[in-house]
Amino acid sequence: AKIKEIEFVKSSGRPKDCPRDDRPEFAMLGRSNVGKSSLINYLVRKKEVALTSKKPGKTQLINHFLVNKSWYLVDLPGYGFANAPESAKMDWSSFTKGYFLNRDSLVAVLLLIDASVPPQKIDLDCANWLGRNNIPITFVFTKCDKMKASKGKRPDENIKRFQELIRENYKQHPPWIMTSSVTGLGRDDLLLHMSQLRNY
Ligand code: GDP
Repeated sequence: AKIKEIEFVKSSGRPKDCPRDDRPEFAMLGRSNVGKSSLINYLVRKKEVALTSKKPGKTQLINHFLVNKSWYLVDLPGYGFANAPESAKMDWSSFTKGYFLNRDSLVAVLLLIDASVPPQKIDLDCANWLGRNNIPITFVFTKCDKMKASKGKRPDENIKRFQELIRENYKQHPPWIMTSSVTGLGRDDLLLHMSQLRNY
């Protein structure tokens, strides 16, 4: 399950510009500031690999990284910029939804959820949309080191509440993993999880 090599392949401005390739891929998605770049760096353990530079309202790109020449990690534009103009928020939906609905090689979406805050409407909307559209998803709770009660040891109220709130949109509860890019929590679990999904 180790990442030995990671190569930045392409930034795509539209779903149809993504690499034409049937190698399996995992797309990482989350609210701006959820800790996505940190998580990519922690998975890869190389500071220079995550080339994400995202600013509200600026060009948003789908970034493909090829891992071990065998699968892709895809960095999708963050959503829910607090200060973004409405137009930038709207762009996300058509743009990213197009990707989800048409990408045959997509194995699962890793939806990043900040475990240090109570469930946010925009994350719930996103999780519910993915569930209703039968897009395979894994919840990756980030910043678990900041959970007050359990100090990252156990799922706390925020995580439990989130799971309850999305339940009705899923026939089966999606897999979920607790992570912290500060303590390294969940790194091996997440890599193993992705390698298991690739073999199905
Ligand atoms: P992105 O916008 O989703 O790419 O988020 P970043 O990776 O840039 O992280 C946003 C902020 O959250 C930064 O200040 C990070 O230092 C912080 N952060 C990210 N991951 C963690 C984590 O696991 N634990 C804690 N405590 N802070 C984190």
